[in-house]
Amino acid sequence: MTIFSRIIAGEIPSYKCAENDKFYAFLDINPLAQGHTLVVPKQEVDYFFDLDDNDLADMVVFAKKVAKALRTAFPCRKVGMAVLGLEVNHAHIHLVPLQSEGDMDFRRAKLQLTPEQMQQTADRILAAYEAR
Ligand code: AMP
Repeated sequence: MTIFSRIIAGEIPSYKCAENDKFYAFLDINPLAQGHTLVVPKQEVDYFFDLDDNDLADMVVFAKKVAKALRTAFPCRKVGMAVLGLEVNHAHIHLVPLQSEGDMDFRRAKLQLTPEQMQQTADRILAAYEAR
């Protein structure tokens, strides 16, 4: 079982941002920017580009809704989307609110937010997602 499957199962806590029957979105624990969100399929698949075409398309459509909520909650120029998968072998998309190109640099120092700030961040995104 991957760490993300354990998060989806509720065995490991996460800061939930959005959910539907097939996908789950939660804050990245080491955010590049406030609101950095991960979108994952509930089905355990190793890598985003291993998903079958329909699931991949559905996941991008779900990510689009999450990105809109993210931009409502945290106004930004654009929401960047990235697939890495170098660390966790469970398909996921990174959504990062962007003010500049450098905000998408995964080598840069991560934000240090308190648990309260993380919870408030997730709550704002979830509220925007549910208000769609
Ligand atoms: P990558 O597989 O290279 O796309 O990186 C995995 C991402 O998952 C990293 O940005 C981590 O900060 C994030 N991550 C790992 N464990 C957790 C967790 N328990 N909760 C939230 N994010 C996590």
